[in-house]
Amino acid sequence: MATPLRALLVEDSEDDAELLLRQLRRGGYEPAHVRVETPDAMSAELAGRPWDIVFSDYTMPHFNAFDALALMKNTGLDLPFIIVSGTISEDRAVIAMRAGAHDYVLKDNLNRLVPAVERELREAQMRQERRAAEEAVHRLAYTDPVTGMPNRARFTEHAQQTIAAARDNSRLPALLIVDIDRFREVNNTLGRGRGDDLLQVGLRLRGVLPAVDVVARLGGDEFGILLPQGGDVTEVIRNLTGFLDAPFMIGGIPIAVEVSIGVALAPDHAADVDTLLQWADIALFRAKRTATRYAIYAPELNRRSPERLGLMAELRHAVEQRRLMLHFQPKMAIKTGRIVATEALVRWPHPSRGLLMPDEFIGAAELTGIIGPLTRWVLYEALNRCHTMRRQGTRLRVSVNLSARSLHAPDLLEMIEGALTDTGAGPEQLMLEVTESAIMLSPERAKETLTILSRIGVGVSIDDFGTGYTSLAIIKRLPIDEIKIDKSFVMGMLADKKDAVIVRAVIELGHNLGLSVVAEGVETQETLDALAALGCDEAQGYFICKPQACGPLKNWLLTSPWKLEATA
Ligand code: C2E
Ligand code: CA
Ligand code: CA
Repeated sequence: MATPLRALLVEDSEDDAELLLRQLRRGGYEPAHVRVETPDAMSAELAGRPWDIVFSDYTMPHFNAFDALALMKNTGLDLPFIIVSGTISEDRAVIAMRAGAHDYVLKDNLNRLVPAVERELREAQMRQERRAAEEAVHRLAYTDPVTGMPNRARFTEHAQQTIAAARDNSRLPALLIVDIDRFREVNNTLGRGRGDDLLQVGLRLRGVLPAVDVVARLGGDEFGILLPQGGDVTEVIRNLTGFLDAPFMIGGIPIAVEVSIGVALAPDHAADVDTLLQWADIALFRAKRTATRYAIYAPELNRRSPERLGLMAELRHAVEQRRLMLHFQPKMAIKTGRIVATEALVRWPHPSRGLLMPDEFIGAAELTGIIGPLTRWVLYEALNRCHTMRRQGTRLRVSVNLSARSLHAPDLLEMIEGALTDTGAGPEQLMLEVTESAIMLSPERAKETLTILSRIGVGVSIDDFGTGYTSLAIIKRLPIDEIKIDKSFVMGMLADKKDAVIVRAVIELGHNLGLSVVAEGVETQETLDALAALGCDEAQGYFICKPQACGPLKNWLLTSPWKLEATA
């Protein structure tokens, strides 16, 4: 059966057009075509209906292939564009291809036409799929994977825009952080997945408020709300808490949840979103401590050092007295099944609270500046361990996480060079993991820093890829070695088609940019198999090995089913 083909012919000779069409029919196509020979006619046809392909003569009395190509590009279309000419020379053809034509066929060699058409249609299809996947990555960068609600990135951006827009008409917003106190308990007791339950809360919040996209999940049990001021904010908050008082149906059981709300007002308390969020967080702590349900930020709260600030004083001591510890999690090369590197993950053995995980203190450490000395300690400790293992015959690169503040710290390069010199480790033993959002804070500065690092020979990895403000345009220009697909996508890829698309798209993107792609959060053999089939380079996750202290890790390396890559 003939394949329909919507072909636009830019051609002044009716006879030549007929020859071309005959060739297509012979090749199994059923062309529905229009022939044009002026720019105006071509514009009208491109705008008027969808096309599969454009064939263009090289020179015509009123037109030529270069102008036709430019015209097509200006309309934003990316159709296969094939030059069919009696006269084009080899070097002109090369120039045309550089300008974006996909192929050229000489009129006295029309046998080449059909294979060229087949190939270009296939490639156009692939371009189309890749674009769809890139768009999906982009969309998901603004979506919380657990609830499908807007995420922190979307919230921050929206808040920033609202503040900027409000400067003129003095309708500045209030920023609220809503924290669900009892949810953790409930979920631990019932042992449930939390996505649906969180979504219930999110939807209820959204139902009380006017605009749809001002409620976002910030992470954990926290939601962010942006309220236009003007009315009485306290009135709205009372309404909110009232609505949340009604019990939630969780697993068929009505359960009362308790919420606390922290509020910060622009511009009274701050005019930028990060500071507002920080102040709203402090107000939230106040509300929790005093069990008042909500609190509005006041500078005194900051001075009276809420619990989080108290914890930070302890953390500072812990760093100074070297009482933190590192766990290491191996990374495996999927093709060979060999362990090629480890990632250093910090832990804080707290005297009364037990082993604290980084999510519980890194954020606050970053806000208070303790992140500086903390990062320095992690870097030295990781390199020392790595170098010691190397001297004992185990050659594994170590990855260290850099927070946004560390990436942009003026003394970063000095610190890294110092750490390499002091520990005796080589730059090829170190890889730094930075998140997209850290880069996007100041892309130009990040580029300068990363360029110097890569010149020194230190590896750079983009962590949590897919969750930040993805700007592929910027990522493309950075001297990076690796991207890590965020574990939320990897963990969901077998159950959720959207996640699978993202994973595949990131692997393709990474490979197109010549980068190594790592999947983190690999929890099952099935996931590992699926990643292998997609050509992913490295895997990291509980299925292979949980993060553990250096001693146990060495034993594991000796006994695990996965072998070491190389021994020195
Ligand atoms: P990350 O860099 O994305 O690290 C991966 C996190 O996922 C680790 O959590 C790891 O234990 C966990 N993980 C690994 N495999 C699996 C898996 O198969 N399933 C699941 N569910 N989780 C897995 P961890 O150690 O709690 O670290 C959390 C985050 O804290 C890290 O995320 C990183 O952003 C940050 N962090 C850790 N150490 C440092 C540090 O030294 N400096 C800085 N700035 N941040 C750090
Ligand atoms: Ca990491
Ligand atoms: Ca990560």
